[in-house]
Amino acid sequence: MASSNNDLFSTLKSLRSSTLVGLQATQDAMHRHPRRIAAAVLALLAGSTMTAFGVAPLTAAQFNTPPAISQISEALPLPDLAGQVVQLDEQALSLYRSDVTRSSDTIDTLLNRLGVNDPQAAGFLRTDPAAQTLLLGRPGKMIKVITLRGQLMELVARSPARQSDQLDSHFTRLTVSRADDQAPLSAHTEQAPLQASTQLATGTISSSLYAAADEANVPDSITNQVAEIFGSDIDFRRELRKGDAFSVLYEAHTADGEPITWGGSAGRVLAARFINKDKVHNAIWYQEAGHKGAYFDMNGVSKTRSFLASPLAFSRVTSGFSMRFHPILQRWKAHLGVDYGAPNGTAVRSVGDGKVSFAGRQNGYGNVIELQHSGDRKTVYAHLSRINVNVGQTVEQGQLIGAVGATGWATGPHLHFEFKVNGRQVDPIAIARASESTQLSPQALAQFKQMVVSIAQRLDTAEQQSLAGTHSTARFE
Ligand SMILES: [Zn+2]
Repeated sequence: MASSNNDLFSTLKSLRSSTLVGLQATQDAMHRHPRRIAAAVLALLAGSTMTAFGVAPLTAAQFNTPPAISQISEALPLPDLAGQVVQLDEQALSLYRSDVTRSSDTIDTLLNRLGVNDPQAAGFLRTDPAAQTLLLGRPGKMIKVITLRGQLMELVARSPARQSDQLDSHFTRLTVSRADDQAPLSAHTEQAPLQASTQLATGTISSSLYAAADEANVPDSITNQVAEIFGSDIDFRRELRKGDAFSVLYEAHTADGEPITWGGSAGRVLAARFINKDKVHNAIWYQEAGHKGAYFDMNGVSKTRSFLASPLAFSRVTSGFSMRFHPILQRWKAHLGVDYGAPNGTAVRSVGDGKVSFAGRQNGYGNVIELQHSGDRKTVYAHLSRINVNVGQTVEQGQLIGAVGATGWATGPHLHFEFKVNGRQVDPIAIARASESTQLSPQALAQFKQMVVSIAQRLDTAEQQSLAGTHSTARFE
């Protein structure tokens, strides 16, 4: 979260410069999700950065004075308690707080964190059959409370839908409330529909990509997509630098207006920008008629390469492990390649289209798969705990072929990966970068570039109007 002027200003600046990318995707997606996208356009053109912070809309005056970010946020009027909320507001004594449940939480630690000092409520939450579900299941439930002098007036917990086939459409809402400060608490749960929305988020790397994403309230599934989209531009394991920044416009689901924090339900990245070591990379989702949709840079060149940069998908789990090139080991002659540390069972995927030339056990390598690709290119995946393919089988890029293990001469679970061109070892990311990519057809490219230009013009106009309509203090520079 932005905590100083400089942070806020740089966030705003990057937001402004990323707006072009956002609008691009917006136009592309307009025919698919007209209403959602229209809202995003309005937000972008208005220079509003509300979704970037996920807290509250910024007003012009606040550009000068960054809002103090805290757990106390403005209440969204809750559907069945709107009247009560207004009444409490008038007393100016009620507090609204939100947080997310943690795996270590007890009723006491949670209530304490939420500023609730109410033994009666604690007892109710421990014993009421409906309220008891509060800390059941997975952590990460979104909690919002209203308190009056420490007493719990209402608690709403939002969590994934109970039925797995409703995960993308519904959420579970647990409401614990009392009618007034003398009334007893009551609790009930219901399944309520999720809403679709478009979110714009920005982040700056200070320690890791996932830490920055957490600060920007970006769900893991979106962060994973960003890492994949830019996988052949940026080596996220080796090249990330402090100060690198990203902006991402994505489809998201909201529960009662709040972006959901649990994974799995976030949609597709519509556009993204990543600044790595001062180099700017852009990606825009675009679907040419009759083709599969894909990400393209500003010149209409597809971000998809014929080889992935890594056989392991980048994720919160795998990002925590470093990769290691190893030279010749004494015990294992001519052992070249790259080792990816990863937990046992992590999915291993084919980096390119090809054919299985070996699948089985070999000395040293343990369970190993060899894939033959076009152009005398070969990849090797070793120490696997599981092999999912057979010799002679055709595999596609990204296909699950096995799982990380520690078979053969391995001291712990890791993937030993080799990329050979004409029999010689090469750096996988160098190959991914240099490998073939597709470009939009001339017809689509013309349309694509025209949109880039027209959106830039509209943006310039909107920006000028926005600046002219506000005082000079609203400038971000
Ligand atoms: Zn190795």
